[in-house]
Amino acid sequence: MEKIVSLCKRRGFVYPGSEIYGGLNGTWDLGPLGTTLARNIKHEWWKNTVSNREDVVGLNSSILHHPKVWDASGHIASFTDPLIECKKCHHRYRLDFVTVRFDKEKGKYWICPACFEENTSEPRDFNLMFRTHLGSTEDSGTELYLRPETAQGIFINFLNVVNSTRVTVPFGIAQIGKGFRNEITTGNFLFRVREFEMMELEFFVEPGTDEKWHEYWKNERLNWFLSLGISKDHIKIVDLPKEDIAHYSRGTAELWYDWPFMGFGELEGIANRGDYDLTQHSKYSGKNLVFDDYTPYVIEPSVGVGRAMLAFLVDAYSEVGDRVVLKLHSKLSPYKVAVFPLVANKPDLVTKAETVYRYLKPVTSVAWDDRGNIGKRYYAQDEIGTPWCVTVDYRSLADDTVTVRDRDTAKQERVNVSQLDTYFSQKLK
Ligand code: ATP
Repeated sequence: MEKIVSLCKRRGFVYPGSEIYGGLNGTWDLGPLGTTLARNIKHEWWKNTVSNREDVVGLNSSILHHPKVWDASGHIASFTDPLIECKKCHHRYRLDFVTVRFDKEKGKYWICPACFEENTSEPRDFNLMFRTHLGSTEDSGTELYLRPETAQGIFINFLNVVNSTRVTVPFGIAQIGKGFRNEITTGNFLFRVREFEMMELEFFVEPGTDEKWHEYWKNERLNWFLSLGISKDHIKIVDLPKEDIAHYSRGTAELWYDWPFMGFGELEGIANRGDYDLTQHSKYSGKNLVFDDYTPYVIEPSVGVGRAMLAFLVDAYSEVGDRVVLKLHSKLSPYKVAVFPLVANKPDLVTKAETVYRYLKPVTSVAWDDRGNIGKRYYAQDEIGTPWCVTVDYRSLADDTVTVRDRDTAKQERVNVSQLDTYFSQKLK
């Protein structure tokens, strides 16, 4: 992980948030390459979940909702984590992040991981929603929350979507947007942060067909990760036992990834939420949130962009000797192609390489590099996951061909410049 974090910073994928002011815990900023990688992840998710399908539409709701939304959803009452505080050093932890022991005389106790003090304090509920205020007064009537998930924005627009489009159950509404959670403990790089983008789908189905659709989305989501290069040994579907899921859930599964810092753990949640959300919002809003006189059940795949990005980075990270090759799927790589002149001080080569660069630029995402020697440039591109490098050499000037080097095999082939657009379009299909 340390190597990945340092690579991410060095090459402009991810920087610590507010770094010049000493940092802000639980926030990270995406650099130029990270921004493109995240866009590519979101693009692939949207393509797979919305645009390639006929039964899912998109939505972009506001981050701030009417405070009653969070009453109805149950977040005000129960979007909490059990928090314990060390009586000596006052470090705070989420209960499940420390080991609680039992002793016949002492009863239940836990040892502070920071100062090793023995504590017997009981946990208290800590609400993870960030609070803010509407307008210029700060009385309790103006209190709002930054959304901790995008899903509620979908439920409160259910009727709008049904009434303004031609959807019929089964259908889904998808949304990508920021969520905020005031996590007690953050950490493991992008894994647990306080502000993150989420990709969420609420798929509405007829009651009785929910289990079938739950199975369907579990497989669909697993296959999406596999199709983008996650190794099948590193990811699995786990059905959570009844005692670990919310009382209203009719079944929750998770995709678990084999994280370097903890072994298998949650990458994505895929819940069967029954009719809980629509029923709650009907009750609190007084609006009848039904379709054809029944309340649909909902299947909800929900994943963080950053957590998905971390899985893709970890899975792609490999070392060949002392250098790094980031074997990202070409659909995710920030740059698909890099173009170089073989040497930088030969104007003929540079001009020709520039022509190739400009010719490819409208076709795909292309990098230019003319620094250092050719070997170093290959390695620099390998490190950021660029799948192909195009080199313009002396032979290019004579026969209008270039070499194309493949990142993963290091094999090179000669391709005619006029064929390059179809060559890469084929590879990127
Ligand atoms: P946990 O139990 O680990 O706190 P959760 O069960 O509350 O997580 P969900 O509400 O299911 O998480 O969130 C859906 C998805 O959003 C998660 O699978 C994860 O990909 C992402 N996610 C949730 N919390 C965070 C966070 N603090 N930082 C980054 N991603 C997150």
